[in-house]
Amino acid sequence: MTTAKDGISALRSLKNYLIFLKDAGYSEIPLETKWNPGSSRQRTPTQTLESSPPSSRKAMPPKTSNLTLDDVKKELGECTRCKLCEGRNTIVFGSGNPNADLVFVGEGPGADEDAQGLPFVGRAGQKLTDIIEKGMGLNRQEDTYICNIVKCRPPGNRDPEKDEIEACKPFLIKQINAIQPKVLVALGKPSASTLLGRNVAITKERGTWHEFQGIPLMLTFHPAYLLRAYTLENRQAVFSDMKQVLARLKS
Ligand code: SF4
Repeated sequence: MTTAKDGISALRSLKNYLIFLKDAGYSEIPLETKWNPGSSRQRTPTQTLESSPPSSRKAMPPKTSNLTLDDVKKELGECTRCKLCEGRNTIVFGSGNPNADLVFVGEGPGADEDAQGLPFVGRAGQKLTDIIEKGMGLNRQEDTYICNIVKCRPPGNRDPEKDEIEACKPFLIKQINAIQPKVLVALGKPSASTLLGRNVAITKERGTWHEFQGIPLMLTFHPAYLLRAYTLENRQAVFSDMKQVLARLKS
């Protein structure tokens, strides 16, 4: 039976979705959207853009590691494996659900992240949260895991350097192996290039599927880039990329 609470929750989700669509540059609801605001179900992944829940998870390749995220964190310890340890306040390991179907991989912590020890908590983080929650209808903490290719803040927010990425990458790989998500999303060029092991032209290759160790990998813009280049085209591009991700989560 649909309760008043369910109705209010559905209306709130609808409002968030409409705000997100407006933000993404839409003046009307895209035809292919199957969102069902009348559903009495509590929100499930994919409810906002797609009405059906994803199929049972973990149909992906077998785990290549028995390590848990806690094991990986312990192994990382108070890491001094690269020079980024010198200026950091905290190691930003990652946050979210250790069994998430969806993992976002960013570039590296910024000032806010370094201060709080959590990934994507500044302006770009808020944008990513909006994309996940308002756009995709997921709960950031419950439905996703978010981490970066380097876990310590590069000085002045510069790009991480090759030796730093190489030093930190084994831990990113171990994190992904521990989680074994159904889908990975690389946020921006450094992340995409690190995961694919080649120089990725993100403006050309965003929106395309690749694989990382057998896991489907979608490339999209970093939310910080989206904020810097807040064009209709870029917002719709990210919207379209995330729709593809939701469809893959369901398959
Ligand atoms: S960036 Fe990674 S490898 Fe470098 S010190 Fe931090 S945790 Fe260690």
